[in-house]
Amino acid sequence: MALKPSESQERELPAAEGPQARAEASLAPMRGAEDEARLMQEAAPYVRFHRLETLLNAARANSLWPLTFGLACCAIEMMAAGASKFDLDRFGAGVFRPSARQADVMIFAGTISRKMGPVIRALWDQMPAPKWAIAMGGCTIDGGPFKYPNQYAIYEGADTLVPIDVYIPGCPPRPEALIAGILKLQEKIKAGSKFRG
Ligand code: SF4
Repeated sequence: MALKPSESQERELPAAEGPQARAEASLAPMRGAEDEARLMQEAAPYVRFHRLETLLNAARANSLWPLTFGLACCAIEMMAAGASKFDLDRFGAGVFRPSARQADVMIFAGTISRKMGPVIRALWDQMPAPKWAIAMGGCTIDGGPFKYPNQYAIYEGADTLVPIDVYIPGCPPRPEALIAGILKLQEKIKAGSKFRG
C-alpha cells in the first residue's frame, strides 16, 4: 500500500527526538548564508526579484498628473508643451487636473506675486502625497527679471513656498525644456530618493 506523503516523511525523520528536532532536521539542508546565496544564484536566470517600491515608483513616474495652474508668461510655454506639437501625453504627464486633490505635480510657471503666495500654499496643501514641484523659468528660480533691491511685489523663488524637485532655467524655457525637466523628475521618482529617509 502506498503511503501518504506526510507518513513517508514521518518515517525518514528522527521521530524519537520530538517535533522540534524533526522540524530542525527538515530545515537543515536550507540553513546558512552560503545555501541561501547559492539558491539565489541558481534562481536568478529564471526569477526577477523586484521590490514593491521599484514598481510603485515606476508607476508614479510614468503617470504624473500636473495641476492646471499657471502664473504668468511661462504658462504659455507650459500650455504649448501639453498641446499636439509637443504632446506631454507621450511621457504620461499630459493629464492636467482641474482639482488639487487629483494632482501630484505642481508646475510653477510664471512670476509669483505676493498676492498669490497664500493661494499657492493652500493648493499645495490640498494635493495628496506623494507630490512633486517643478520651478519653470527664472521668475520661479529666484525672481528673474523682477528681482531688484527692496522689491516688495514678488516671491524670489518658488522654493520660498514649497520644496522644489526640479529647476528649469530660461525666460521663458521652451516646451522642450519643460519636457526635459519632467524626464528629470521621472528619473528622480524612479530612484526613490523622495521616500528613503
Ligand atoms: S521667467 Fe520670463 S517668461 Fe517666465 S514668467 Fe518670468 S518673465 Fe515671464
